[in-house]
This record gives sequence, structure tokens and C-alpha cells, in this order.
Amino acid sequence: MKALFLDGLGKLSVQNVAMPLPKADEVLVRVEACGICGTDRHLFLGEFPSSPPVTLGHEFSGIIEAVGQDVSDLKIGMRVTGDPNIACGACDACHAGRVNLCHNLQAIGIHRSGGFAEYVVMPRKQAFALPMSLDPLHGAFCEPLACCLHAVDLAGLKAGASVTVIGGGVIGLLTVQLARLAGATRVVLITRNRAKRDLAAQLGATTCLDPAEVDEHLRQHGGADVVFECAGLAATVAGAPRLARRGGMVVILGVLPAGQKVDIEPFDLLFREVSLITSFLNPFTHARAADLIATGAVKVAPLISRTLSLEAALDVIATPPPDGEIRALVVPSLAIGA
Ligand code: NAP
Repeated sequence: MKALFLDGLGKLSVQNVAMPLPKADEVLVRVEACGICGTDRHLFLGEFPSSPPVTLGHEFSGIIEAVGQDVSDLKIGMRVTGDPNIACGACDACHAGRVNLCHNLQAIGIHRSGGFAEYVVMPRKQAFALPMSLDPLHGAFCEPLACCLHAVDLAGLKAGASVTVIGGGVIGLLTVQLARLAGATRVVLITRNRAKRDLAAQLGATTCLDPAEVDEHLRQHGGADVVFECAGLAATVAGAPRLARRGGMVVILGVLPAGQKVDIEPFDLLFREVSLITSFLNPFTHARAADLIATGAVKVAPLISRTLSLEAALDVIATPPPDGEIRALVVPSLAIGA
């Protein structure tokens, strides 16, 4: 089978390798689609630790081709989405139910073979069923949606809450939809690209702003109960607290490179009692994400910018996305050149 490898710092290749075989408690999945996430570029650049050589791809779904001898409930031919984050179950964080903080976390597509391949194996416990009627591309959004669900859970959104989302990428646009589903009545999305603002309005944002319009909006309407930082930039993280109302909360999802510092004024947080929390990965949220996508409650079709073969993905992983791109999906069955 073909698989896209991170061979080392700044080195990617598509190689023919032996088809993996599922162990007793594993399933073998024919990958239908796998999203290219910013993390894949961080791995390529060495800004995020990984275990090369390794097949990348952690946002995948596909059809079960084989099951190990101990797997009785999932069957060949079923469509599944993979939760890539495998917790050890034995460390203090796991024992405390904080599986996303597992000391021995192993991620499919980062530490072990991932979904930029024709086939991937994963432990049965990481697989979640999707309906066969679902568009084969849509399951690739379960993993990012599961991360956004964790953030919305942590925020404890109440019906009638006001929310501001910074950044109109996949994470921001999924968070906009979840905020509405959780009962937020006013959802402001801040992003630079006009097309993304228009899309956010279709997906439930009640106000869409260019960053240059934010000051005027704050003067007229004040801050939000909850601010979700989904851009992952020092400036947007530093600017997030002032978008929260007194007693409000900022939830940081964006990933800044390790070592990067951000200018935040503790006095302002204290005086206005704005809490600042972070949200990491998808603890126990993957099943709900799969259901939200399976039922169409969260719309993902408009987030697909293009589909690519494994070979075409080499350049796309290595370079920053073009302006306006939301998510490129690798479809391993596509021919070279697609
Ligand atoms: P993305 O596609 O890069 O989206 C970020 C968006 O921020 C861009 O689309 C950009 O759109 C917007 N942006 C840039 N400058 C801005 C500014 N000054 N003000 C407002 N918006 C601005 O990335 P993503 O896939 O959505 O992920 C977002 C962040 O979440 C990344 O840092 C990613 O690593 C992180 N992440 C975290 C988790 C977690 O568990 N915490 C999980 C997945 C991803 P415009 O061009 O329209 O401005």
C-alpha cells in the first residue's frame, strides 16, 4: 500500500510499504479521507515532537477491512472514525480521568502510523462507528470537532450566553456551530478573510468582524461571556481577555510554538475577574463529535476546500495554506496528479 511518511525534519515521501495487519484488539481501516491539519506542518518543521519515520495523518475515517480476533462488535464493511489519541490508562493523569494529559500519550499519525495512507490500523477502543449513508469525506472532521467540544464543555456555556470566537479556520468555524448548539444566542466571529466571515454567518455566527472592526464593536456591545481563541497567534491570545466581559472567561485552543511568550496583564484579569483557561485535545468527546456529524447537526461540507492524492499532499503539507483555504483533505484512493 502507499503511505505518506515524515522521514525526518523537513523531509516527506510517499512510499510503498507492506499492508499492516491488525493485532487481536485492533481494526484495519481503508482510509477514505484524512484532513491536513496545521499540526502536520508543525511536525514537518520539527516544531512539534514526533517519532520519524512515521506515517502522518491524525484526522481520518474509513471502512473496516479486517478486525483482530478479540474484536466482536465492529464488523468488516462498517465506516468508522479514529480517535488518534491513545492514553495509557495507567498513569496518574489517566487515573484522574484526564486522559488528554496522559504522561504516555501516543497519537496515531504522530508517534505511530497514521491516516495519510491507503490503510491504517488502530486499537478497537479508538474507533467510533459512523453511518454508511454519511459522505465519505465528512468523518475526517470528527477529530477537530471533538477538540472543539472539549473547549465548549470546559466553558460550561449556558443558554443565552454571548460568545466571541477568534479565528475563522476549521477550529473557529466548528466552535461557532457548537456555541449555537449549546445555546449561545450572540456569537461573534473575528477573522480577516471575507469569505470565511460570510461562511461563518451561514453557520450560525450572528456577527462577523474583521479584526479592524473589533474596537468599535466592543464600544457598542461590550465583551462576551466566553471568548474562544482559535487563531493560535501571540497577538490574538494577548488580545483575547479584553474581548471578555467582567466575570467572563477566555478559552485558549490555539497552539503557539513552545517557548513563545505572550503579553498579558494579570491586573486586568484580576480586576475584571476574567478567567483564562486552556483546552487540549479531545478527552471522551469523540463519540459525541461522531454523532454531531452523523446527524448533520454540525455542518462540515462547507469546510472542505479541496481533495488531494497522497502525492499531491506532499507539497501542501510543506507549505502554508493559500488565503481562504479552510481544510484540504487527503483521499488516498485518488490517482497521482489529483
Ligand atoms: P487555521 O486554519 O490556521 O485557522 C486559524 C485562523 O485564524 C486562520 O484561518 C485565519 O483566518 C485566522 N486569523 C489569522 N490572524 C487572525 C487575526 N489577527 N484575528 C483573527 N483571526 C485571525 O487553524 P485551525 O485548524 O482552525 O486551528 C486553529 C488553532 O487551533 C491552531 O493553532 C491549531 O494548532 C489549534 N488546535 C488546537 C487544538 C486543541 O486541542 N487545543 C486542536 C486542533 C487545533 P483569516 O485569514 O480569515 O484571518
